[in-house]
Amino acid sequence: MAINLDNSNIGTRENRLGSITGYVGSVSDITTQSECGTLRGCGRCFSQSSSCLSGCALSQLGGIRDVAVIHHGPSGCSCTATTQYQTTKQVAKKRGVVNNSVYIGTDMDENDTIFGAADKLHDIILEVNRRYKPKAIFVSSSCTSGIIGEDIDSVVEEVRAEVDVPVIAAHCEGFKSRIWATGFDISDHAVVSGIVKPPKEKRNTINFKNFYESARPEIIEMFKNFDLEPVFLYANATVEELEHMSEAAATTCICGVLGNYLGNALEEKYGVPYIRTINQSGIAGFETWLREIGRVTDRSDKIEKYIAEQRAIYIPQIEEVKKELKGLRAVLGMGPGYTFEVSRVLNELGIEVVWALAWHYDKKYENNDVPPTMEYLLKNNIDFEISVSDQQNYEVMNILNRFKPDLYLSRHPGSTVWAIKQGVPALYVADEYMIFGYKHTLEFAKTILNTIRNRSFEQNLAKRVKLPYTDWWYDQDLGEFLQEGKANG
Ligand code: SF4
Repeated sequence: MAINLDNSNIGTRENRLGSITGYVGSVSDITTQSECGTLRGCGRCFSQSSSCLSGCALSQLGGIRDVAVIHHGPSGCSCTATTQYQTTKQVAKKRGVVNNSVYIGTDMDENDTIFGAADKLHDIILEVNRRYKPKAIFVSSSCTSGIIGEDIDSVVEEVRAEVDVPVIAAHCEGFKSRIWATGFDISDHAVVSGIVKPPKEKRNTINFKNFYESARPEIIEMFKNFDLEPVFLYANATVEELEHMSEAAATTCICGVLGNYLGNALEEKYGVPYIRTINQSGIAGFETWLREIGRVTDRSDKIEKYIAEQRAIYIPQIEEVKKELKGLRAVLGMGPGYTFEVSRVLNELGIEVVWALAWHYDKKYENNDVPPTMEYLLKNNIDFEISVSDQQNYEVMNILNRFKPDLYLSRHPGSTVWAIKQGVPALYVADEYMIFGYKHTLEFAKTILNTIRNRSFEQNLAKRVKLPYTDWWYDQDLGEFLQEGKANG
């Protein structure tokens, strides 16, 4: 799909990528239907609350160093930023840099909702610029400013003449998409259309889209072997680094759901190759990813040498741990990028995935291809039951009760807590680099062993906790239950 950087707004994932939030079936079915274009999502007759896309969009933008994010909405909406603000400061401190980014809500009230608050927004942008001197200003809409039709584009356009840093609109009306990952695309669109400059020279840099750059030192060291320098995005990135993204040798990301809009936009607009492979988790993922970087940057010899050296160190150790993991059964609940990548790694480690829940599912990525992991699983005959569920925890509990797995893995802590209360050992795959490359795959395998060896905590807790779920719910067949809702695909 062509990316239109002249319009400050972008379509939702549902509209652009055919993404869905309801489905029950299997890897082979969803992938085949995605390839031939017949996939339709299900609605729900009951739904727990979910997340707002502005959380994803504005936490990405607010992580950039020394910028201002102005959230034009009621204070309730701006609360989505409280954790982002804290995380930004912590991540900056960990890296040893100072991040002076600020996050401001315009506190829309009843009057503003009736009469509009464009003038107020205009004045707030000028005051924020005067007071904080940010390197760039992002102005975000919300449901409230969206519903009253506040023209933030015109305000931004007017203010640009009065402010000497980029001022960029980010359209974050939460009601427009059920998929919070649409917010990642909104932030990428804002950065590529408002910050990135046309290339002047080619650099040996790799644009590396991630969340919190926890493995930054070791990845910098690894890329030195190939005469390449990663630039981590967006947490702690400077506006100057973002301006030069068009000059990079390639773009890659820790997760296709997070980075595919940025990668495709930079490729389409500036010809920067986007690394479209399965991600770096596990042995097959790491090697496939590295080899593709070698191919597009013409460094295959150096990469093969590195792979051979690292294999000699880590593969025997991984094989040793695998002996103890064989036969374990797992259920997963994560965003679609990770849930299928981690399932692939569990298969590599000899663990059977009995069910995987993805918090949404992208039928296609921006270049119109099915996500690489899905193709990989289909091609390698790795098949298991799955459902698509926008973090509907009651559905997770139904699945866990049905399969009683040895392990539940999730990237969302609220989800793992409920599994533990049900007596299932759970592993919180919080750090995006937890399974990165050979070294972290080995550590991940050992962490699984530690999680399942002693199950007394989960068993004792389950005996003492009364959960709100009834036998009626546990007896429901998830497939039939979801089909009762209306199709929304
Ligand atoms: S923008 Fe909409 S969905 Fe998001 S927090 Fe505000 S009211 Fe809720």
